Amino acid sequence: MIDAHCHLNFHSFEKDYDGVIKSAFKAGVTKIINAGTKLDSSQLAVDLAQRYNSPAGELYAIVGVHPHHADKLEEGWLEKLEKIAKKPKVVGIGEIGMDYFSYKSNDIVDPKLQKSVFIQQIELAYKLKLPLQIHNRQAGRDILDILINHKSYLLNPPGMFHCFAGSMDLLKKILNMGFYVGFDGNITYKGLAPGEDTDLKDLARYAPADRIIVETDSPYLTPEPKRGNRNTPEYVIITAGFIAKLKNLTFQDFEAKTTENTVRLFKL
Ligand SMILES: [Zn+2]
Ligand SMILES: [Zn+2]
Repeated sequence: MIDAHCHLNFHSFEKDYDGVIKSAFKAGVTKIINAGTKLDSSQLAVDLAQRYNSPAGELYAIVGVHPHHADKLEEGWLEKLEKIAKKPKVVGIGEIGMDYFSYKSNDIVDPKLQKSVFIQQIELAYKLKLPLQIHNRQAGRDILDILINHKSYLLNPPGMFHCFAGSMDLLKKILNMGFYVGFDGNITYKGLAPGEDTDLKDLARYAPADRIIVETDSPYLTPEPKRGNRNTPEYVIITAGFIAKLKNLTFQDFEAKTTENTVRLFKL
């Protein structure tokens, strides 16, 4: 089992990441991909990836600038990111994208800035031949426009939408473009997230099993029945079991498929 997107590089795991990683390996998670959201957390994801390299399990890094940080960049950030992205065990550029949701902790960043930072990273990913790991919240239409306008910068396969949410139409369009689709613990929640109109369960039922990637987004989005606790990579197994049931597949069959998908996309 693979956790294709988490943040053991965040403060929440500062004190006990080693225990968390070992416990995930023990539970049967053999590969963990940590994603950066700005330059320092990207560098940390790389440092972690280089520290864990064993038959029990491996860590990888995805590096990039999240749209929430698009207004806090200093000159030369792209060159610095490129340097980090060229390090061993970096398997993708992310989490990058657009976010139009107004959070308590983060207001909406100027869409023009978000767009420019997103595009520069799409171009960097193309230059380095790395797939994209895209963050989208309520910005599907604009992300789609940007991707279509930058078609010549997309690899085959182009990448994945992490923690997918949105309309059935958006899902169909990104699948047509060759993207993989990531689901997290929030698929186990009842009801719709604020601003969403399509149940994640329906989206996962529609998406073909050979295009689904499972992730945790730890420390966030803890699946039921563990909700209320900090999320950790080993709970990816709970989410995979939940999706397998939705799709009427055995856990073993779904696990094999989603592992194969993640390995293929990120060349693990
Ligand atoms: Zn995200
Ligand atoms: Zn994330």
